[in-house]
Amino acid sequence: MSASAQSEVLIVGAGFGGIAAAIELQSHGFRDIRILEKAPQAGGTWFHNSYPGAACDVPSHLYSYSFAQRRDWTRLCSPQSEILAYAQGVARDHGVDRMITHDTTVTACTWDPDALRWTVETDTGATYGARALVLATGQLHQPATPYLADAESFTGHSFHSAEWDHDYDLAGKRVAVIGTGASAVQFVPELQKVAGRLSVFQRSGNWFLPRENRPYPAPVRAAIERVPGLQAARRRFLYEYGELLTLAIRHPNTVGRLVYLRSAAHMKRQLTDPEVRRKAWPDYTFGCKRVLFSSAYLPALQQPNVELVTDRVTGLAPTGVVTADGRIHEADCIIYGTGFRTNDFMFPMKVTGAGGRDLAEDWGSGAHAHLGISVPGYPSLFVMYGPNTNTSGGSIIIYLEAQARFIRKALQAVRERGAGAIDVREDVEQASDRALQTRFAGTAWTLCDSWYRTEEGRIVANWPGYMREYEAATAEVDPDEFLFVGHAGSPPLPADPLDVGGPV
Ligand code: NAP
Repeated sequence: MSASAQSEVLIVGAGFGGIAAAIELQSHGFRDIRILEKAPQAGGTWFHNSYPGAACDVPSHLYSYSFAQRRDWTRLCSPQSEILAYAQGVARDHGVDRMITHDTTVTACTWDPDALRWTVETDTGATYGARALVLATGQLHQPATPYLADAESFTGHSFHSAEWDHDYDLAGKRVAVIGTGASAVQFVPELQKVAGRLSVFQRSGNWFLPRENRPYPAPVRAAIERVPGLQAARRRFLYEYGELLTLAIRHPNTVGRLVYLRSAAHMKRQLTDPEVRRKAWPDYTFGCKRVLFSSAYLPALQQPNVELVTDRVTGLAPTGVVTADGRIHEADCIIYGTGFRTNDFMFPMKVTGAGGRDLAEDWGSGAHAHLGISVPGYPSLFVMYGPNTNTSGGSIIIYLEAQARFIRKALQAVRERGAGAIDVREDVEQASDRALQTRFAGTAWTLCDSWYRTEEGRIVANWPGYMREYEAATAEVDPDEFLFVGHAGSPPLPADPLDVGGPV
């Protein structure tokens, strides 16, 4: 298939990752960049997740690009609208908005070993070609709605938290919320204020740490804006705070125990109703699932119009949600706060590498990539927020910037060598994956099931260490770890580039 529009680098996804990659590449002399984005606007998860109360629980001084620091955030953890405006503003300021083709979902990417190019097919029918492909689709973009028995019999309204129906008036309604993860704990307090009755269906409790998040008083805002170095110091402090959380997760019996005590004290203070306390209390080790930051959720659960239901949801009935005890919890609307198909990464997109290898097959037992970025046999394909690059402590933007730098350096290495593409050595990827997986031993992440793991228990979402370790690991591209395949203008490659060459 011949692609209609060619570029040097094609980026899929205009969220924080895709924007970071485009800016990094552009500022280092890569001019021919195109971004394909399924949504009508840039911003990724911050465009899609507009539920009431949506905000980032990572403070904005850290959850922002190092090269685009703002001193006028209105509060510690910004609401969705501010973060979306920030992401779109940064894209605009750097001219990235002009690179984006919107409303275009990528369906297939195929490596052409003769042309040394990727061909990218989309749902609009348009095809694109590029020398390098950056898949910046992230881990949290495909809503997961569980199949519930007799779901079709329910006569009320329903939607997923990532597809919030703002036209549906929830005031005075009987609302059922299924799922109690990071999203639900943000929208439940808002729903509680407007719903007539709210039934919250919890499968697992959460560990909480406090988050008041009041708007900054004027003197604090003024100080952040005017005192030299204060912004940088706050960012540094928040970075170290994130690393402390990782330390706690890595050492559940020592540091983890201390942070657990802090969490338990906060929860005990907030959970004054003994029945709700019993139900909401988690039954797994602190840090195994994402620790949630909220001072509003647990009090909301104890309001008179709210019921926390811990009986297992077995299905739906025409009038509501059925639980294992046979009860029907009547509802006008069901909201699924059931998260995302995180382990799917970029799928169902079909990704075909050298020699016809299929990424879905290669990742059949769980996704893996060198530094979460490079997959052997997929030349000049780079994944952002790929396997094992999620963080439980700190800011994903630190990781995304590190990945953007790494990708830029890899492509510079290709240019410098006059090569056609760069492909990580299979033995290097396997060794780095083995080393990475062994680092999970003894950590809290291994002590329960979560969205970080596959059904077989392999942890595919999270980086096992600290932000600073990931930054160090990705700081340089070691040419010995890669094959430089083909040469610009050279004869076609053999079908499988792993069979040829070595570092050039
Ligand atoms: P989530 O954390 O995966 O939570 C999903 C919830 O739904 C969990 O309580 C889960 O229970 C429950 N669930 C899933 N399937 C279910 C089923 N079949 N029956 C009953 N319950 C079911 O999803 P999320 O809240 O949308 O958050 C996803 C991620 O987005 C977060 O972990 C975080 O990384 C990110 N996020 C970040 C922020 C932020 O402020 N930074 C805010 C929102 C989201 P189990 O725990 O038992 O599986």
